[in-house]
Amino acid sequence: MKELKERILKDGKCFSGGILKVDSFINHQMDPILMKSIAEEFVRRFDGTEINKVITVEASGIAPAIMVGYLLGLPVVFAKKKQPSTMENMLVTEVFSFTKNQPYTICVSKDYLQPGDKVLFIDDFLANGNAGKGILDLVRQAGAELAGMGFIIEKAFQEGGKLLRSSGIHIESLAIIESLDDCQIKLT
Ligand code: 5GP
Repeated sequence: MKELKERILKDGKCFSGGILKVDSFINHQMDPILMKSIAEEFVRRFDGTEINKVITVEASGIAPAIMVGYLLGLPVVFAKKKQPSTMENMLVTEVFSFTKNQPYTICVSKDYLQPGDKVLFIDDFLANGNAGKGILDLVRQAGAELAGMGFIIEKAFQEGGKLLRSSGIHIESLAIIESLDDCQIKLT
């Protein structure tokens, strides 16, 4: 996706440990015009796939997911990172955070992820695939089906893409970072 790639090269900032900061248009300040184009591209790439719900993880996945849900006319569920004391019937799993270097739990109510649901997972980054694995676990616990996974940015020098694709999941990434070595952003 040309527009996204150009924006990453223009405004993305490289940090040590293979981290790309896109705080000026995705992760802190958000560009809704670019986000709309991102969502349109996801819709195009998953055209023909049977989906009845979009799922994401709070917080950075919510913006692209809600845009995709809006375009498809489908509900959007976000996995919460803290289990609310007022909510029962939760499906829970553990995810290892790449950026925080520690595990955290994510949960979704059984009311909003149900047997037979065909869900599309949308997130901002694909790094080691831990968030994706966590969502897959919640989907399986619910007896639902994963229709695919869409990421705005995939870092191909980390293992997530290979790992998730090797388990047969339809993955679409709109911009693929080949390397961040020497703080140079190299896109495929
Ligand atoms: P994974 O679960 O694939 O290992 O990591 C993906 C999650 O970690 C994303 O949801 C994102 O929040 C965060 N993440 C991983 N790598 C980066 C990065 O380079 N930059 C930013 N901003 N977030 C990242």
